[in-house]
Amino acid sequence: ILPIYILTQKDYNKGSTAQGLFVDFARNLPNASTYKLCAVLFEIGNHVAVHDCSNMYFQKEYCQKSLLGCWEMLRKLVYTGGICIMGRFTLPRDLYHGTGSLETLKTLTGKKAIVVVGGGSMKRFGFLDRAEQYLKEAGMEVQLFEGVEPDPSVETVMKGAEAMRAFEPDWIVAMGGGSPIDAAKAMWAFYEYPEISFEDLITPFSFPELRQKAKFAAIPTTSGTATEVTAFSVITNYQTGVKYPLADFNITPDVAIVDPDLVAGLPVKQVAYTGMDALTHAIEAYVSTLNGPFTDPLALQAIEMVLDYLPGSYKCDMVAREQMHYAQCLAGMAFSNALLGIVHSMAHKTGAAFSTGHIPHGCANAIYLPYVIKYNAKDAVAAKRYAEIARRMGLAGTSEQALINSLVEKIDEFNVRLNIPKTLKDFGINEEEFKEKVDKIAELAVGDACTGSNPRAIDPAAMAKLLTCTYYGTEVDF
Ligand code: FE
Repeated sequence: ILPIYILTQKDYNKGSTAQGLFVDFARNLPNASTYKLCAVLFEIGNHVAVHDCSNMYFQKEYCQKSLLGCWEMLRKLVYTGGICIMGRFTLPRDLYHGTGSLETLKTLTGKKAIVVVGGGSMKRFGFLDRAEQYLKEAGMEVQLFEGVEPDPSVETVMKGAEAMRAFEPDWIVAMGGGSPIDAAKAMWAFYEYPEISFEDLITPFSFPELRQKAKFAAIPTTSGTATEVTAFSVITNYQTGVKYPLADFNITPDVAIVDPDLVAGLPVKQVAYTGMDALTHAIEAYVSTLNGPFTDPLALQAIEMVLDYLPGSYKCDMVAREQMHYAQCLAGMAFSNALLGIVHSMAHKTGAAFSTGHIPHGCANAIYLPYVIKYNAKDAVAAKRYAEIARRMGLAGTSEQALINSLVEKIDEFNVRLNIPKTLKDFGINEEEFKEKVDKIAELAVGDACTGSNPRAIDPAAMAKLLTCTYYGTEVDF
């Protein structure tokens, strides 16, 4: 997913000052190599300027009046993140939270609900029975779709969509860790539009209009992915080994039920990994090139809550566990709208890359985050934002650099407390295998959907260097 800016001089008078200014502007854009520029729209007084990749248009009158002012405005918009892409901020219509909030399923109105779940843990703890009971109390006929696997497959999605077409629910209730909810989001699309294909859906923000047949409720049973509030889903095609990252506000659920009872029994290792995943979501969203006035407060609040409550949650303090469940959800609201950065690009492409075993997503993020902060902080705007996080969290330091160092130290300290290794080497990745694969992984990571909104540009060579730092624990000095 790329933030889209297209600056062409197509509709400009050749040789005009405007041309020079815009060339200069384009050259100074962060991540210039990965940006496309289109549909930039802004208002200046009574004039509306619309920039489109194919048909850039500027009020001539305005151009003549103040070209410099307009350039400065665009520049400021991009640099401060007050992005001039027509902004959209989407969250579920209703979010129910608090102990026992699962019961709000009773208040849904409809005729039929299909409940999509994963393995047996929700059944074992009795939550599935309760959910079913509540939906029946709401007067609905209920059908179960069970057995969504971790990293759900295309086949599972198609089977689920078929079940939905036969049953014709007007509510899809997805319950589980990330996977059943992700799978159900894709099933929803194929239920409503049987004729579409995955290839039609992988272009970001190109979904057909959903909610023609059903609405969607999501109930998370882990604390990290926040898929209950996000516009994302990942489906794997095991035949080709390709992951389809689906992104569209159409798949942001209508209802999220964030009930801490459902995460009371999480294994502590999962608490640590998913908690650090949530912290990474919030920090990456805060420094993303798509950050903005609606996502910043959510990101900062999430960071503060993770710092306050993750250690307690790890020690099974249930008050802290509850707060972490909310913190990860806030982080999800931020990154669903501001997107992420290269910590996630690296985690996505290294997760299943080595024969020594899978690196859990949150664990990979936790390892990479301090290194990426050091890399990104070479960008002036990102540096300011990392320092702002540290300042808001009350970390030590008066200079920008000292504050950034404090933030990195804080993350290092958390990793130690949560028993997360500092390097890929400590994690147990084989050195020879790492060396052999690092260039290929670097290339794939640069091409990941999360790279586009990272605050500092990166090419495969720099990415390979960065990955090498995370392997040996060496300093990021480039
Ligand atoms: Fe994540």
